[in-house]
Amino acid sequence: MPDIWILRIGHRPQRDKRVTTHVALSSRALGASGIFVDTKDEVLEKNIGGVVSRFGGGYTIKTGVEWKKMLKEFGGEIVHLTMYGQRLDEALPKISRDKDLLIVVGAEKVPPEAYQAADHNISVGNQPHSEIAALAVFLDRFTDGRNLYSDRDGLMTVIPNERGKTVVEKRS
Ligand code: SAM
Repeated sequence: MPDIWILRIGHRPQRDKRVTTHVALSSRALGASGIFVDTKDEVLEKNIGGVVSRFGGGYTIKTGVEWKKMLKEFGGEIVHLTMYGQRLDEALPKISRDKDLLIVVGAEKVPPEAYQAADHNISVGNQPHSEIAALAVFLDRFTDGRNLYSDRDGLMTVIPNERGKTVVEKRS
């Protein structure tokens, strides 16, 4: 399976810190390889880096990215999630499974360049909702849920448990 990357545009560090953190965490949990964020945000980088160092996997974060340049230069396919886009169920079969995928999610109003650069403008329902939820539904459908329980070989690994909490910690 090719790599899945997220591009978060319109990020405002103070206002969006929790939402962008959750965009990163959800995409990591669902199998994305990393996130690019347009605005420089060292706190966000540190927080996500901390989760990766404890829970494992190779998820990367880069902030302060020139998003228009990135959209022009990205070698794979680009999906833009927007409530105005085509239906998810109709779009899914049209997305390549052989090329890397870049998924664009907005924070504030998304400029027309994102719609134009995307190979697929896709809606997860045509109602306005959360970018975290839209991204999670998209990733789960795109990957058929296969990454939910994949092992990340972390210092901490949570073992599914019907009642209590089971966490295995590696000695570093
Ligand atoms: N009003 C903004 C605009 O002009 O696009 C969007 C703000 S919305 C809170 C933030 C992001 O959530 C959007 O850029 C989009 O990526 C995602 N989003 C919101 N509703 C969506 C939907 N129904 N389907 C897909 N993505 C959605």
